[in-house]
Amino acid sequence: YVVNSHSHNDHIRGNQTFPNDIKIISTTRTRELIEEWEPLDIAEEKKYAPTRYSYYDSLYNSFSGDKLSREYQQILMWRPYYETLLNSHLEIKTRLPDTYFDSIQNFDGPNRRIQLISKGPGHTESDLILYLPDDKIIFSGDLIFNKCHPYMPHGSISNWKNWLDYMNSLEVNTIMPGHGEIGAKKLINHMKNYLLNLEISASNLHKYDQSIEKIGMVPIPDEYKDWWFDRFYVMNLKFAYEVSKKVEKE
Ligand SMILES: [Zn+2]
Repeated sequence: YVVNSHSHNDHIRGNQTFPNDIKIISTTRTRELIEEWEPLDIAEEKKYAPTRYSYYDSLYNSFSGDKLSREYQQILMWRPYYETLLNSHLEIKTRLPDTYFDSIQNFDGPNRRIQLISKGPGHTESDLILYLPDDKIIFSGDLIFNKCHPYMPHGSISNWKNWLDYMNSLEVNTIMPGHGEIGAKKLINHMKNYLLNLEISASNLHKYDQSIEKIGMVPIPDEYKDWWFDRFYVMNLKFAYEVSKKVEKE
């Protein structure tokens, strides 16, 4: 079995490398999202990946500063990302999941139980986690990142918080996050605090009538300054701002 935690390209594009008799599991909605979005995403990527690769490649070649700096480390991360993306388009085939679970499913093997759990939207419109109750391990997909800004605009902040509360209610010692290093249970609260912090910042911006254009100027809070994927912060704040505006109207 292979489990797709959600529909994003970096979590599903390995599917094609597994033999046909291996079942690919996801939620029903994740399969629909992959089917709907992959052709569009791939077409878009074919347009932007070459330019972004050249951009990071020129930064890489002309860099003369501190090679231990975050700025340089980010170049070292994004340059091969776009290069690999670009090359992958030559052989990419979308292999859709073929087995669906939408709530809780137990798999009892000779040594341990595995639970697949979905509670609907969170990081995307549909997420699925894998829980090993005997080993007290959660494979969280992108519902939890370790020291990386999560990516929020495809999801639901309120449901995401419910997901985190649910994970907190499980017996857990170890989290295998979607991005970043393996961590302890406290990663769940780190993520929840990030979401709460962002919601407060968004509703303050809204309360003081700041326009959406000003959001790009909001600095990243100190506690998240050394997190990876810092360009997601502004996208997340814009998303939270739109959500808080909608809530106000209702
Ligand atoms: Zn994702």
